[in-house]
Amino acid sequence: MANPFAVTEADFSALLQQIHKAVTEYYISNPPESIRPPEAILQNSSPADPPARKLKYPIGLQGVVNDLIENVLPGVFAQSHPNFYGFVTGGVLPPALLADFMVSLMDLNVMVHLPNDSIHTTIEHHTIQMLCDMFHLPRWMAPGSAITTGATASNILGLACAREWTLTRTEPNLSVARRGFAQACQRAGLTSGIGILCASPHSSLKKAASIVGLGSDNVIDIADPQTPWDFNLENLEGLLAKQKDTRWIVVGQLGEVNTGQFMSRLPAIRRLCDKYNSWLHIDAAFGLPARCVKAYDKPTEDLANWDRIFNWCNGVELADSIASDGHKLMNVPYDAGLFFSKHRNILYEVFKNPGAAYLATGLTEVEAPCDINIENSRRFRALPLYAALTALGAPGYSALIRRLVLHARKIAAIIESEPLLSVYEVAMPRLEDIFNVVLFRARDPALNEVLAGKINATGKMWVSGTQWRGSKAVRIAVANWRVSIEEDGPGSPAVVREVLKEVAGI
Ligand SMILES: *Cc1c(COP(=O)(O)O)cnc(C)c1O
Repeated sequence: MANPFAVTEADFSALLQQIHKAVTEYYISNPPESIRPPEAILQNSSPADPPARKLKYPIGLQGVVNDLIENVLPGVFAQSHPNFYGFVTGGVLPPALLADFMVSLMDLNVMVHLPNDSIHTTIEHHTIQMLCDMFHLPRWMAPGSAITTGATASNILGLACAREWTLTRTEPNLSVARRGFAQACQRAGLTSGIGILCASPHSSLKKAASIVGLGSDNVIDIADPQTPWDFNLENLEGLLAKQKDTRWIVVGQLGEVNTGQFMSRLPAIRRLCDKYNSWLHIDAAFGLPARCVKAYDKPTEDLANWDRIFNWCNGVELADSIASDGHKLMNVPYDAGLFFSKHRNILYEVFKNPGAAYLATGLTEVEAPCDINIENSRRFRALPLYAALTALGAPGYSALIRRLVLHARKIAAIIESEPLLSVYEVAMPRLEDIFNVVLFRARDPALNEVLAGKINATGKMWVSGTQWRGSKAVRIAVANWRVSIEEDGPGSPAVVREVLKEVAGI
């Protein structure tokens, strides 16, 4: 009997043609007219067919392809638009998009390393090695590193390893992975557990602390009020020195979410961690790609001193663990976080599948992915990164990150010149301090109150609102390879000038 799920070659080709046309139009003609879908589609977003009806009357393969092209694609907002500056979304580079299609085609489960049967785990391992090189991290970190779902997951990996190390450092028997946190702390005499010292952390750090059982209330923000992306080292040392019934994990950050600023003096922070036996984790979700700028051919553009930007990451290689993202500035599709660590054994202790004989592959150079990461079964999420890294190489990524910085600095320069300067105020007024984020507000409190909404309603650009030094502010986060650094045209900084003038009525 014929398989009812099968499709003939002719039908499949015709459907692919339809998808091909829609994908090409969407991807190549970006930017679309408006970032937000037409109001009519948004209003209509509770379709006539309720979910129960959809299940009862299936529309079949051709029906669903039509539905995806006619209803779903036009109904979502264009996060891949070059003037979409909300969050830190990134875009998708062509090689990464094509590879992502292949990932679904192959439907591989990257779980155990079976080098005699398939090369996919080896490709993933090579991708991690390329990333180490790209970010100037030592290659020997690769075996303790992993491709995760995002920087949140990488922060979870980092805190879970830090927790394990903090307790087993003095007493190998006190493994949290085996005994649980309560018993390990009790036996170590830690009545107040483990605290986390950080400066203006991303919200995902508290979430990670909550998930791994350290507790989000134990994430202690000791940012210097003058420079909130940084520690005051005296305060940091004062707290670290008081480790009687608490031990500390220190979390540094490259790329503070509001200002995009980088924490300084990582080598000095490392020395304090060594002195007081603390694990150093660094959240560099969108900051680590600053290291890509090194591979440049000629010092062309004049808006930036690239060595200075490279040096913003000085000392990151000294961390015990690092969280970063592929799906932000590295411009691969979502589901690509990066985790690097120097502690392969600890990562394995915490994330292994205890006693699963059918998973055992023996000791190899490449750890079974399911024994050093959160999931067991998962997709081949290294492939889009592999494709982008091999297509662009280090020079290509250098050019990409420099483009993002130049675009952001041009926007800042526009807001800091008339006529916009009388209406708006940039938080980091020195262009040379800007990486990829421009934080600003309207001088008039009434306009400032509604600023983000008014900007987004134009459909020409999209920003996220935030709080900065006691009042609302707007963040422009530049992360998409599509941004232009030309004087005008789609995706150029001039779009921002036009929109901010329109919003201010000037
Ligand atoms: C985006 C971000 C995260 C969270 O990353 P996801 O990829 O969304 O999980 C963590 N830290 C910082 C600094 C970020 O910018």
